[in-house]
Amino acid sequence: MALVPELLPELGRRGLQVVVETKAGEQAGFPDAAYAEKGARIASRDEVFGADVILCIRCAGANPERARDDLTRLSESQTLIGLADPLGQPGHALELATTGARLFALELVPRTTRAQAMDVLSSMATIAGYKCVLMAAERLPRMFPMLVTAAGTVTPARVLIVGAGVAGLMAIATAKRLGAVITAYDVRPAVKQEVESLGARFLDLGLGGGGGEGAYARAMDESFYEKQRRLLADAVAQSDVVITTAAVPGKAAPRLLTAAMVRAMRPGSVVVDLGAERGGNCELTKPGKDVVDHGVTILGPTNVPSTVPYDASRMFSKNVRTFLFHLLDAKAEDDILREALVTRGGEVVHARVREAEA
Ligand code: NAD
Repeated sequence: MALVPELLPELGRRGLQVVVETKAGEQAGFPDAAYAEKGARIASRDEVFGADVILCIRCAGANPERARDDLTRLSESQTLIGLADPLGQPGHALELATTGARLFALELVPRTTRAQAMDVLSSMATIAGYKCVLMAAERLPRMFPMLVTAAGTVTPARVLIVGAGVAGLMAIATAKRLGAVITAYDVRPAVKQEVESLGARFLDLGLGGGGGEGAYARAMDESFYEKQRRLLADAVAQSDVVITTAAVPGKAAPRLLTAAMVRAMRPGSVVVDLGAERGGNCELTKPGKDVVDHGVTILGPTNVPSTVPYDASRMFSKNVRTFLFHLLDAKAEDDILREALVTRGGEVVHARVREAEA
């Protein structure tokens, strides 16, 4: 849900009237009555799309089926704010541009300290990093913690986390709470300290060179990935659980686990590939499906935050509220608005999205 009821009074104090689509918050634990109690009008989707500003979680390329229907509901006086996957699905941004509406894509908000409170990607990655460990624990035929019991000693699960960004670090913290022994790897050596501070061992493959713009990794060539896969193979084979979260903004997920690497794991082991939506970090991943290959389960979950809808909605709402207020208060277009603005006046105005379309 893009806006939770507790934030409605703040919007009201700014003179904004809120219209909420019928039952939009129900599955996340926010019934229509909770919105009505805070002064919102409950209405049909058609009526909601009559608003000046429309807040949604996934629109345009991030929600292709729904978005196509919504195209007929949009006009040039309107502003749409939500995740839109404009770099992955630039064609949808082009379609939306034809309505004349303004689209702000939240995944393009710069990852700067000033924009931190609007950083939906970090919020959603935090939730995905937590939940993917629970998914692995649920499918693993072993326990995570070490136990010394009258029935003998239970050895702890060995968990390897590949990609120690926001999701990876949250996965480390969650696996640690469950008692696993954790190794983590990232192409950016700078994360070593963060990994160790969470109680995991940092796997140094001695490759270096993965740091890119700001805190992000950059895309590497195939020979680099080939070397990476070779050097990762032993750590993968020795793990009960491998969680992959490796990503390069605007690119397909780097392929870090081959079928052969997975088949060298013990039967019963589990791979959770959070890169599934971007084509997968693992060769065997099928987005949205569970695959069992040589006794190893490979989970390719998509839209993981939606499986924790209450907190995902609360975090998303606070980010989107901050973005909305920033937009309303802006006297001029600053870097945050400029970088997030995808369409305006019937055109795709974002240079990288235009390049992705070409
Ligand atoms: P992301 O989702 O783009 O990538 C996830 C991780 O995959 C990254 O740590 C990246 O280095 C890693 N990765 C990419 N290619 C890899 C490869 N070939 N092998 C192994 N790992 C690979 O990134 P993210 O988690 O959204 O953010 C990355 C970093 O940005 C974070 O660690 C954080 O420090 C920083 N950040 C800063 C702010 C801010 O200042 N406001 C906000 C968010 C994130």
